Amino acid sequence: MSLKVLKFGGSSVGSAEALRRAAAIVRAELPRGGLVVVSALRGTTDLILEACAAAGLGDLALALDQLAAIQLRHQAVADELGLTQAVATAWAPLFARLDQLLTGMAMLGEATPRGRDSALAVGESLSAHLVALCFDGTFHDVREVMKTDARFGKARPQLEAIRAAAAPWRAALSSGGLWVTQGFLGSSPEGLTTTLGRGGSDTSATLLGEALDAEEVQIWTDVDGVLTADPSLVRGARPIPQMSLGEAEALSAFGARVLHADSLAPGGRAGFRLVVANTLRPDASRTEILPVPPRRPAGAVTSVAYKEGISLLRFPASAGLEPPLEVARSLEEAGALRFGLISSPAGTLLAVRPETHAATEVLGTLAASGLACEAGWAVVALVGEGLRADPVAALRHLAALGQEPIGGLLTGSSTVSIAFLVPESRLGDLIPRLHDRCVSQTIGAINPDEAARR
Ligand code: ADP
Ligand code: ASP
Ligand code: MG
Repeated sequence: MSLKVLKFGGSSVGSAEALRRAAAIVRAELPRGGLVVVSALRGTTDLILEACAAAGLGDLALALDQLAAIQLRHQAVADELGLTQAVATAWAPLFARLDQLLTGMAMLGEATPRGRDSALAVGESLSAHLVALCFDGTFHDVREVMKTDARFGKARPQLEAIRAAAAPWRAALSSGGLWVTQGFLGSSPEGLTTTLGRGGSDTSATLLGEALDAEEVQIWTDVDGVLTADPSLVRGARPIPQMSLGEAEALSAFGARVLHADSLAPGGRAGFRLVVANTLRPDASRTEILPVPPRRPAGAVTSVAYKEGISLLRFPASAGLEPPLEVARSLEEAGALRFGLISSPAGTLLAVRPETHAATEVLGTLAASGLACEAGWAVVALVGEGLRADPVAALRHLAALGQEPIGGLLTGSSTVSIAFLVPESRLGDLIPRLHDRCVSQTIGAINPDEAARR
């Protein structure tokens, strides 16, 4: 039987009403079964991280208040679905575990990356058990399959081990049945719980799609697919019905939260169909991500992405290349994302974003040692297949807006994007203006239906 994997994000399982809508989607999309991947209920991951932070500072009372809030919230959703009794046996040990973990952190006065990942696993597991009952499926723990290294907070998947561990799942799912599992979590070679980085359950779904030889992976979220910009900054952002894998990769790498940055590679390798759709409006437009690029006019920009929280490290030319490379390696090892490494006779610039506590600490130590380090930067990227034929078009757009590409252009290996650095404070003004100039003018080529309605 050909397999479909459906992933529901936090907002798609954030309330009883959202869960009912998601259940209807699953009935329609998976009449003969398949795999559902779910994240924690909306806001839960943030609450667990706050509880860990409080416990790590020794404030157990505050941490347990957060735990009580998490418990109340989950109970309220289960009550509304009439699943309180049914889910109680699965949930009781999870709440007890979170209590123990927070108590341990408060006693030690430290929330370790390993402890934090174990605490975060509770949020994902609470959700997956509830969803399994609500969808009339069976719960299976993703940690049986999702083998990673031991970089807590941003673990790297081990593809061969995942494929080998997935063999029993492949066999069982090929004969039907609806399975529900957690996103975001993995297990280290020693069997300890890890996480794939914030927003990582998109990547869980696509990695599972690859390991299970799925024909399609659907990412269900709270917008009409991938849009031409982040709708929280650009009110006129429009859906993109079809985009290339390269465009999606660049967009997510440069910060569009709708798809986790690591979630595109599995589809590139395995070739399954990848779709992004809206749980709130299942019949609205959706985005299909294609291995073969859709036709775009030369110079057309499909979307604008950005990511804040970037730090710039500057090395004098006299330092040579080895120190920046060494610093880049150690930051990456600790879980920082590298947005650029540019070297010229004038010196070397490294642009990074710490994604883990360990990476933030490494950055702090480097700054304390006297390395020039500036926080408060953002990366902005123009993305589009049209830039392959006319990359200079992106520069014309920047020039027209009077925006000099500060910090150098980060073109990287992708020819479907041009990125540059700006101070974070510029984003609110720049992103809507860039969208207006670059994307709105070519919307007809990106989304003809949308253009006809305007
Ligand atoms: P989920 O909980 O379903 O994983 P996320 O919050 O991680 O949802 O991702 C969806 C959100 O991503 C949207 O609500 C939107 O605010 C944001 N977003 C940023 N850039 C884009 C974009 N280009 N297209 C669509 N959504 C985007
Ligand atoms: N629940 C996790 C987070 O909030 C994973 C995800 O949503 O993809 O980051
Ligand atoms: Mg997400």
